[in-house]
Amino acid sequence: MRVFSIPMRTRFRGVTRREGVLLDGPAGWGEFSPFPEYGAAECARWLAAAREAAAGWPAPVRDRIPVNTTIPAVGPDRAHDLAKGSGCRTAKVKVAERGQADADDLARVEAVRDALGPGGRIRIDANGAWDVEHAARMIRSLDRWELEYAEQPCATLDELARVRRLVDVPVAADESIRRAEDPLKVRAAEAADIAVLKVQPLGGVRAALAVAEACGLPVVVSSAVETSVGLAAGAALAAALPELPYACGLGTLPLLEGDVTGAPLRPVGGEIEVRRADVDEEALARYEVTGADAEAWLRRLAAADAVLGGGTAVGDAPLKGAGKAGRTGAGR
Ligand SMILES: [Mg+2]
Repeated sequence: MRVFSIPMRTRFRGVTRREGVLLDGPAGWGEFSPFPEYGAAECARWLAAAREAAAGWPAPVRDRIPVNTTIPAVGPDRAHDLAKGSGCRTAKVKVAERGQADADDLARVEAVRDALGPGGRIRIDANGAWDVEHAARMIRSLDRWELEYAEQPCATLDELARVRRLVDVPVAADESIRRAEDPLKVRAAEAADIAVLKVQPLGGVRAALAVAEACGLPVVVSSAVETSVGLAAGAALAAALPELPYACGLGTLPLLEGDVTGAPLRPVGGEIEVRRADVDEEALARYEVTGADAEAWLRRLAAADAVLGGGTAVGDAPLKGAGKAGRTGAGR
């Protein structure tokens, strides 16, 4: 078990460093990197995903995954440059940023359309920030630059369902899907046309495949802004889905300052490869956390392990450098 902490180039979910634990197993490495606010029950699914990665994934049906670039809530000139320089044919544009005006969103999407040209695809992501009326008005307005879909325009399923009835642009559910039963609720509420699925919160590639099959909606596989080790699990899910109609949100490695592998799963030509990413000692050395500083993560992992029943080989593996540190590290 190895604990890492990598600075983020762009703040994400209020997080400025991406942290977690890397587990080694017979099939390779797995990543356990739940966000700081998650408790043991939620973390247990992330741990199950890491263990599955270390044990092995289902066979792929494709070897490359198209990915989108993500355009943060920046000004139009920067948005244009980011979209142009990404090499991706699909851009996800962040909208509804707190403190910004509708005009900022319009200018940003227009700039991205200009950068991608008529053949590019643009999806927007409001992270649940709009109310129904605002969402419907903005989606209609932004659709003059042809939207592929609108991701989580509002927070609740009821609101998503209402927006969906008001606009022609497909609606995707992201934050509304955090656990295995959620996609079925999304479908029952007729709240979305597309399900955004992430491997770690759903408990692994096989669990996510089962969710995709049960809910029956087209899937966009997204990352939880992981290292290449975690991204490889997302690629394994995207590679195992029978249909993959949309570019995936797995091109997130550039959001991190560095990586833990010598062969990063960085998007090239708008795609990432379907392959494992194994920890490289030299790369990890820059970001490894040891001793007392790693103890909080060891405790989180142990708590998640207890939820899963505890006592498995990976959960019992020693934490490098933490052996003599004792339980002195501050809790999270
Ligand atoms: Mg999203």
